[in-house]
Amino acid sequence: MIKKALTYDDVLLVPRYSEIRSRKEIDISNKLDENITLRLPVIASPMDTVSGFEMASYLSKAGAMAIIHRYMSVADQTRTVSDLKNETGSIVAAAIGTGREHITRARCLASVGVDVICIDVAHGHHVAVKEIIDSLKSEDTFDGIHIMAGNVATPKAVADLARWGANSIRIGIGGGSICSTRIQTGHGVPTLQSVMDCVQTADEYDVKIIADGGIRNSGDIVKSYAAGADFVMIGSLLAGTTEAPGRIITMGDRKYKEYRGMASAEAQMEWRGRTASLEGVSSMIPYKGPVAPIVEQIENGIRSGFSYSGAQTFKKFQSVAEIIEQTPAGQLESSTHIRVRYG
Ligand code: IMP
Repeated sequence: MIKKALTYDDVLLVPRYSEIRSRKEIDISNKLDENITLRLPVIASPMDTVSGFEMASYLSKAGAMAIIHRYMSVADQTRTVSDLKNETGSIVAAAIGTGREHITRARCLASVGVDVICIDVAHGHHVAVKEIIDSLKSEDTFDGIHIMAGNVATPKAVADLARWGANSIRIGIGGGSICSTRIQTGHGVPTLQSVMDCVQTADEYDVKIIADGGIRNSGDIVKSYAAGADFVMIGSLLAGTTEAPGRIITMGDRKYKEYRGMASAEAQMEWRGRTASLEGVSSMIPYKGPVAPIVEQIENGIRSGFSYSGAQTFKKFQSVAEIIEQTPAGQLESSTHIRVRYG
């Protein structure tokens, strides 16, 4: 029997009785671990068109977090983390890959006080991830640093990464807006389904899970939390803004910025000078201006979402949220569907 897998548009949340009079009464904060709490449980993807100094700086002030991407020299990434620690004095996160050379990168990041190291791998249920976590765990230098790992899609993977020593795990294979993994390899699981599948195992192993890939709006974020995700990771929602790395490109009277998958031909040529398996695309998206109003809208959407479930806190929301499946007719009704008639 082939298993059915649901994605964001397949589900809705059932409204519940509420005594919340203002969205301000709602506390949407959540803990990544004992020392790290995000007022806004949203994390920006470690991608070179999303998370550099400016994005991380803005998001940390907004109570969220960006993961400084790893597609720059060790010196540049270390300087970025160090500058952020001065400037913000708050939690700073940065990505590494696998392989011995990434231990050097991790040591440099640790030397300037990085708080979270994200082992950023497309197929995270992999021996190379075990090996790098083993290496990090074997050195005192990394004591107290939060280890995020991924990406994975199954409970078995969550159990393995947790046993290897990850503190939080990115869930989602093939769902990203710029991702072609499913087309290229036939592999993947809809992100929402992966989260629903993995939540119980994550609880058993006491690791946090982050829904990553395919989140298009605050409704998808709220659905991710309802499914059991502790955090969401977003790329396209924040790309194309002033704070995203990259220059503004003017074509005619329109402005654009690039948003690209890290496994796209364009990105691979730039960071390793050749292309291997192509599992992403590159795209020009309309320039969106400053990120602040977008983050505000995301936060307001989450607050309203909690309010529709009558929940004042993150924990409460997760305990009461009720997910239902909708039919294709329901999906039509759920999107704006005004019809303009002529004559
Ligand atoms: P989005 O929020 O739907 O745009 O998805 C962003 C996520 O896509 C990131 O957090 C990564 O997990 C994933 N991703 C980034 N680059 C690639 C790629 O080249 N191929 C596949 N997935 C990617």
